[in-house]
Amino acid sequence: MTGLRWKRVLVKLSGEALAGQQAMGIDPDVVGRIADDLVSAVKLGAEIGVVIGGGNLFRGAWLQKQGTDRVTGDHMGMMATVMNALAMREALAARGLKASVLSGLPIPTVCDTFTQRGGLEHLASDRVVLFAGGTGSPFFTTDTTAALRAAEMRCDAILKATNVDGIYTADPKKDPNAERYDRLTFEEAISRDLKVLDTSAFALARDNAIPIIVFSLQEAGALIEVLAGRGRATVVAG
Ligand code: UDP
Repeated sequence: MTGLRWKRVLVKLSGEALAGQQAMGIDPDVVGRIADDLVSAVKLGAEIGVVIGGGNLFRGAWLQKQGTDRVTGDHMGMMATVMNALAMREALAARGLKASVLSGLPIPTVCDTFTQRGGLEHLASDRVVLFAGGTGSPFFTTDTTAALRAAEMRCDAILKATNVDGIYTADPKKDPNAERYDRLTFEEAISRDLKVLDTSAFALARDNAIPIIVFSLQEAGALIEVLAGRGRATVVAG
């Protein structure tokens, strides 16, 4: 397939993206809309891995605030990401697209456990691979998981979906003078402490020379535009 700027990509969705207008939980309409975009992308010839966060269901830090051990909370957070991945798998299956959930946190009765070889095989056979369960280790985030899986899967780019169409000089919802960066270096992103991804995710992407494209999934078709190298976005690269 021609016309794709990025062929094999790792799409990172926050868990909150699945909640839609709800404060928490999974909105099936939103999951369906994102699944539609993923189906279109695969039809164009893209090879897609997806990391979905878990913040719409649970974050480890919430339990820590209650004085409970962080590790238990992180286990719960990682399981939340598995729930989101299962929801997305079902939405993709309903659209005739085969998808596999590979979890970094082994839950063998529910889904396959992540291995690099398994992930590469699935991607090469036109399956969408949903990388669930984070890294499998506490104290990490799903942003870092996205950078890790992108490196392991030899992805051409990480597509970080947010609510705004790139990285801005200030919060565009609060500051009318905020300007969007077209391009930033990894060093700029790290030194300016831009919160769009955590520092370890930026560093891992930098060390493996994988560009990060920050874009908005709010509009249908945005994913296709980004895959084609068009659309409004910020590219973070070396
Ligand atoms: N988590 C973890 N290890 C990982 C990835 C995630 O312990 O490798 C836990 C952590 O508790 C985190 C939760 O899973 O708060 C949900 O992930 P994240 O906060 O990254 O989700 P998002 O903000 O993308 O919705």
